[in-house]
Amino acid sequence: MGVPGRLDIRNVSKSFDVDGRRLDVLSHVSFDVAPGAFVSIVGPSGCGKSTLLRLILGVDGDYHGDILLNGERISKPALSRGVVFQDHRLLPWLTLQQNVALSLENSGWSQAEKTKAVADNIALVGLQGFEQAFPHQLSGGMAQRGAIARGLANRPDILLLDEPLGALDALTRLRLQGELQRIWRAEGVTMILVTHDVDEAIFLSDEVIVMNAKPGRVAERVTVELEGERDRGSA
Ligand code: ADP
Ligand code: MG
Repeated sequence: MGVPGRLDIRNVSKSFDVDGRRLDVLSHVSFDVAPGAFVSIVGPSGCGKSTLLRLILGVDGDYHGDILLNGERISKPALSRGVVFQDHRLLPWLTLQQNVALSLENSGWSQAEKTKAVADNIALVGLQGFEQAFPHQLSGGMAQRGAIARGLANRPDILLLDEPLGALDALTRLRLQGELQRIWRAEGVTMILVTHDVDEAIFLSDEVIVMNAKPGRVAERVTVELEGERDRGSA
């Protein structure tokens, strides 16, 4: 893995121009995420959670304030950040193996390193044997596992998860919650999870950031104590 990333979000505000009018979406959002932490963000629809993740991802560099990953201001996408969305977004004409390999195109790694990383990450999410499957041949849960493998393939410092389990049935969601926790423990990657499910946030994360809407801002930041159960290495 990469080095678990430290994230500093300092006084971040973001607005969009909608038909000539300014829509304030995020207002003075500040929080930090320690290296290797698992932090969840919850809040009502429209409070700017996905917008904030897009800023951290670097696909939108037009914001006020600072978002620093390991001390460097984020303004464009980089391999140090992986992402998983609610819909798997695997390319339908490529196999699972090809989908994961595609994300390594700009890694600068040798072919042997890429081949190993693809195999390792497919194994990490438990999809050995499905390398040659196309996305339509995978269940919803398996496709999301594939998306997680792709998101981690570049050994990012931080993995951003935007309601990754939101479209899954209850049983698959439970299973993948366990998988996310196992992967977080095993990989040491900093994780930021946006979810609608407060139970999921409490179960999985060290800290829960609660946001309010109009414009989106941090209302509360809660540290979750679960009798030490979540400590890495104690599993
Ligand atoms: P959440 O993920 O918390 O539901 P979003 O970040 O998707 O919220 O959206 C927050 C607000 O920003 C919404 O009002 C949405 O309509 C608006 N918004 C998001 N992206 C854009 C955009 N590209 N242009 C204009 N408005 C946007
Ligand atoms: Mg959203």
